[in-house]
Amino acid sequence: MKILKESVGKLRSGEEILEYTLINKNNLIVKVLNYGGIITEISVPDKEKNFENIILGFENIKDYEENPPYFGCIVGRTAGRISNAKFKIDNREYLLAKNNGKNNIHGGNKGFNKVIWDVEKEIHEDSVQIKLNYLSKDNEEGFPGSLNTNAIYTLNNDNELEIKYEAVSDKKTIINMTNHTYFNLSGNLKEDILNHKLTIDSDSICCLDKEIIPTGEIMKVENTAFDFRKPKEVGKDIEKEENQLAACEGYDHPFILNKSEKYSIRLEDENSGRVLDITTDQPVVVFYAGNFIGDNLLLKNNKKSKNRLGLCLETQDYPDAVNQNNFPSKIYNPGEKYKAYIKYKFYTK
Ligand code: BGC
Repeated sequence: MKILKESVGKLRSGEEILEYTLINKNNLIVKVLNYGGIITEISVPDKEKNFENIILGFENIKDYEENPPYFGCIVGRTAGRISNAKFKIDNREYLLAKNNGKNNIHGGNKGFNKVIWDVEKEIHEDSVQIKLNYLSKDNEEGFPGSLNTNAIYTLNNDNELEIKYEAVSDKKTIINMTNHTYFNLSGNLKEDILNHKLTIDSDSICCLDKEIIPTGEIMKVENTAFDFRKPKEVGKDIEKEENQLAACEGYDHPFILNKSEKYSIRLEDENSGRVLDITTDQPVVVFYAGNFIGDNLLLKNNKKSKNRLGLCLETQDYPDAVNQNNFPSKIYNPGEKYKAYIKYKFYTK
């Protein structure tokens, strides 16, 4: 087990970008930048014990500064879209950047994905860990309260990567963080993700409009393309003529998770034998099928990007809850701790 640290370049501002490589006793590798907490590579074995990369990352570090697809990063302060880029707390209105049409997405122009985090590394008996910390100033990107934020990444010897988010504000505020890794279990991006089998322990989704904003309506997944209660290929129903698929050009929806004792989400690739199980304490997962990744970004493994080359499973709170009457909305009081947890377990079948 070890953690390596190396300088991998500089931002336009001149700040140094460091990459931390976490290695467990089974030689699983997870690489994370201090910039945006971005996971740039996860290397895990296939059923023949070949180690390959299973996520989308850029070949050139400098491309993360643009990063329209939000590869691998921490998303915050608020994951997803805030409708009309504004919200109210106690009748006071807060205005955010309109960085997605007239709406706000993923925390604004300079969200948690575009800041440098302080990093401390720790080696434990059975795990390696990095603790990222960032102090987001009061009114940063329009959000109230100075927010002291941690993202703690732990890779253990059971081949699990855990991410814990914690944050405390000094004013009433909203917060909803997630990780935006695009998975592709085929290994070194051999194929797209349409043949991956996905299971989501969810009976209903939040419907979205054409701007990918929740309409407030909750739809049962039964008899729809959104039924992933049993393992199903991602590509099986993705082109079906259903209003909700047409609205977002594929899956990009909040699935409401059942309270599960085991995993909530399972992703499998039969050819490589790789399986990923995800557990979380969050009420929702946004399953985004990579519909808008775009062509020709230069990726690791000498590959060019294209739509649906990877998919995101963003565990989080209900997006835009602060503006939605129908959704449970959480306003955090000064000093109250926000916590969220994701665990990725990697293995083969
Ligand atoms: C959203 C997509 C968006 C992508 C990149 C995802 O989390 O759900 O609609 O295109 O992020 O911004």
